Amino acid sequence: MENNKNLKSRGDDVFIGTYLRYPAAMIEGSGCRLVDADGKQYLDFLSGIAVCALGHSHPQVSRAICAQAEKLVHVSNLYYTQPQIELAEMLVANSFGDKLFMCNSGAEANEAAIKLARIHSASGRYKVISLGGSFHGRTLATVAATGQPKFHQGFEPLPDGFVHAPFGDLDELEKCIDDATCAILCEPLQGEGGVRPLSVAYLQGIRELCDKYGLLLIFDEIQTGMGRTGTLFAHEQLSVTPDILTMAKALGNGLPIGAMMTTEAIAASFVPGTHASTFGGNPVACAAGVATLRIILEDGFLAGVREKGDYFRSKLEGLAVRFPGLLSSARGMGLLVGGVLTEKGIAVGGEIVTRMFERGYLMNFAGNSVLRFVPPLIVTEQEIDEIVEALAGVLAEYS
Ligand SMILES: *Cc1c(COP(=O)(O)O)cnc(C)c1O
Repeated sequence: MENNKNLKSRGDDVFIGTYLRYPAAMIEGSGCRLVDADGKQYLDFLSGIAVCALGHSHPQVSRAICAQAEKLVHVSNLYYTQPQIELAEMLVANSFGDKLFMCNSGAEANEAAIKLARIHSASGRYKVISLGGSFHGRTLATVAATGQPKFHQGFEPLPDGFVHAPFGDLDELEKCIDDATCAILCEPLQGEGGVRPLSVAYLQGIRELCDKYGLLLIFDEIQTGMGRTGTLFAHEQLSVTPDILTMAKALGNGLPIGAMMTTEAIAASFVPGTHASTFGGNPVACAAGVATLRIILEDGFLAGVREKGDYFRSKLEGLAVRFPGLLSSARGMGLLVGGVLTEKGIAVGGEIVTRMFERGYLMNFAGNSVLRFVPPLIVTEQEIDEIVEALAGVLAEYS
């Protein structure tokens, strides 16, 4: 019988060491719960990093995956497939976008956005400005766009044409713009960077700069999209509309899929031969996406996400009152929730997450400053109470 210990040992023998993994091999999951190879249960407030928005092995999604897999698994984009069309129609009907390109991951969606921004802009324009603290992926172009030096180290020289503006400063951002700039790329709320929101005024200022200088505004909603923040896309709550939008993580509730969406006029700059993906918009991944999106768009679902997010943040604020030495406040939108640590809390942030893991609660430490919670959107108030109670127990050990 396989257990955590021998699965860890077998994995460590064969994988390149890119991940610092917890010593558990997950075997099965349902809703917000996971079970590892030793039979230990976890309450999952990480959802595979904001991916399993409907929880693990959602029956309607799993049925859609199985049904499609029995019919047709892959044909490439030399032909049309019905699930890909259906998913694209649903996304277009529920967003500012008119057209989209499908791929397999977040980084690929951003790559598509960067290529589109370059080819659409006047010749000689190629620079993309992104923000300090941002995260846009791990391919060479998206890691260059990522505004955190720790992700660049060892990979220089990075591709040319990526500029970083300090977070939160519109004047500095304007100074970064020159004749070669084609786009500004940002997350409406920084996820990886520490659940850090951009104010409405800041986002509107960015939109105005784009309009003033003829730049495209690209929103990376790979983490904030698909209902995570309580609307299908976060920008809907922020009164700013981008020209190009990228999404991935929760789009297939666990199957790998990403998409880049834009308006009809901008989309026209991509023609046959300019961009492609062998697997992009795979029928099984798209069938999962259609089933997922149907549920997210059901009446009341997104309102529930907003309510549960408010409830969760108020509970965390309560913990901040009880443990002011460690936790200073709660922030985020919908069910993308951050518990902001004090300086003393930051010093033990990684340890807090490890102790929570040992007790059977999954979450992580983001941006070296914040406890990040991204539970399945189907989480209940009782489950929120349960993890808050467990966190209180761990914080008490440090007080
Ligand atoms: C996760 C993430 C990415 C990268 O997505 P991958 O699927 O890992 O390539 C890019 N941008 C944001 C905001 C993300 O959260």
